[in-house]
Amino acid sequence: MIQVAAYCRVSTDKEDQANSFVSQQRYFQEYIARNPSWELYKIYADEGISGTSTRKRVQFNRMIQDAREGKFQLILTKEVSRFSRNVVDTLSYTRELKRMGVAVEFVTDHINTMDGDGELRLSIMATIAQDESRKTSNRVVWGQTRQMEKGVVFGRSLLGYEVKSGKMSVEPEGAKIVWLIFQKYAMEQAATAEIARFLNREGHRTYHGGKWKSSAIIKILKNEKYVGDLVQKKTYTPDYLTHEKCTNKGQVPQIRIANHHEPIISREIWNMAQERMGQNNKHGAENGGHSNRYVFSGKIKCSLCGASFVSRIKKLKDGTKVRRWSCGTAVNEGTDGCDIGKLVRDDDAMNMLKIAVRSLLLDTKPIMNNVTALVLDAIQAGESGVPDASERLRFELDRLKQKKEAVMDHYFSGDISKEDMLTMKKRYEDQEQSFGERLEKAEVKQQGRNTAQLKQDIQTEVTDLLNYQVESEVLSKTLLHSLTVFQDKHMELRLNDLPMVFRFTG
Ligand SMILES: [Zn+2]
Repeated sequence: MIQVAAYCRVSTDKEDQANSFVSQQRYFQEYIARNPSWELYKIYADEGISGTSTRKRVQFNRMIQDAREGKFQLILTKEVSRFSRNVVDTLSYTRELKRMGVAVEFVTDHINTMDGDGELRLSIMATIAQDESRKTSNRVVWGQTRQMEKGVVFGRSLLGYEVKSGKMSVEPEGAKIVWLIFQKYAMEQAATAEIARFLNREGHRTYHGGKWKSSAIIKILKNEKYVGDLVQKKTYTPDYLTHEKCTNKGQVPQIRIANHHEPIISREIWNMAQERMGQNNKHGAENGGHSNRYVFSGKIKCSLCGASFVSRIKKLKDGTKVRRWSCGTAVNEGTDGCDIGKLVRDDDAMNMLKIAVRSLLLDTKPIMNNVTALVLDAIQAGESGVPDASERLRFELDRLKQKKEAVMDHYFSGDISKEDMLTMKKRYEDQEQSFGERLEKAEVKQQGRNTAQLKQDIQTEVTDLLNYQVESEVLSKTLLHSLTVFQDKHMELRLNDLPMVFRFTG
């Protein structure tokens, strides 16, 4: 017998019978009863249905603890969006559970984490939820974001830019100084204090007319407006699958609108400057270490000495710069270092990853449809504040129909009296009517939201991600397990949770 646990979030709202503990308990009991090799171990239930309610997760934590102790082998839960705080969290929990031999089945979403596919679907969902490319969906869902997208700048003029009635234009004098700062920092590797001294010596003043200091230089170097991006800072949605909106106090990356206005600094120099600042901050509090900075950080392994490859920027003959990875031991030790002697270009490594992922996804349609439906549901739930209202109501209506039929069966086989039959039938019909009315309302609400367009947008987003039309760092990081480099120059790429090895000759 397989011991099965179930996890649900219950509503304490008396109106919301469908999500009451009793109702969910019945749902899981019936579901488990259908499989003769399953035995219910326990139902874990936490309060709170919508993302706005404070989520106490006492039972959830209890369940994870019990899983560690090997008390059950399968967890049933209704939906991905309800399992954990967000999909990214869900993914890390399901992975941990999988390592302990515990599967998670998301019943209404038709995902089982023991299927290779299930993992992939969760990864894609996590990506869409977290990656900035989600702004496509956000834009459609939350109308006010459109204003932002149209290019309204909620800020003041700054060094190098003039902001007039929400439009940004380059101010050439200031732009020169900005350009100089980035040039000196990224290309000449000058220290920020050095740059400040230089500007002061040359008689330049800050935007507000003061003397240049190191801190002012850093502020310029960190301002994404100079590379042409606009960051929406007012509110953010940490994960739209949980429907929470918060005031951004700077603790998370904001929604970034790339190429929003004319840049002063090229993306390449901008990236170099950011990278250098990241390195300098390694021991500082703000950014912490950047061991996880690039997709391939810590993932390229040397077969000879076991060390991870590290990356350097290399300037090629034609002036272009490339990131190259080489064995960490060789770089650090010099003479007695490892002599695997293989350099891996970052773009080559990325291509290998793309090839591997694409080869998995020859049949993407079922995955795409499933993920699209899931994301769509989650978005609509977030909008109406009633999670999956229509889906749930349809489920309840089906159940009522079954109950009515059962009552008739009982009556015809003489188990109950005509009077009982009529009373029960009347009760079910009343409920049916009430559910039906609510379902109608829920459906009208959905139509008002131009579901077809939204679906199309999400589908495009998912397809682009899968085909790497949009390069998603999050998805790449999630999928990539390792790239091992061998002495005969061949390389082996592995994806997370998948058994196959992709061989490349170098
Ligand atoms: Zn090595």
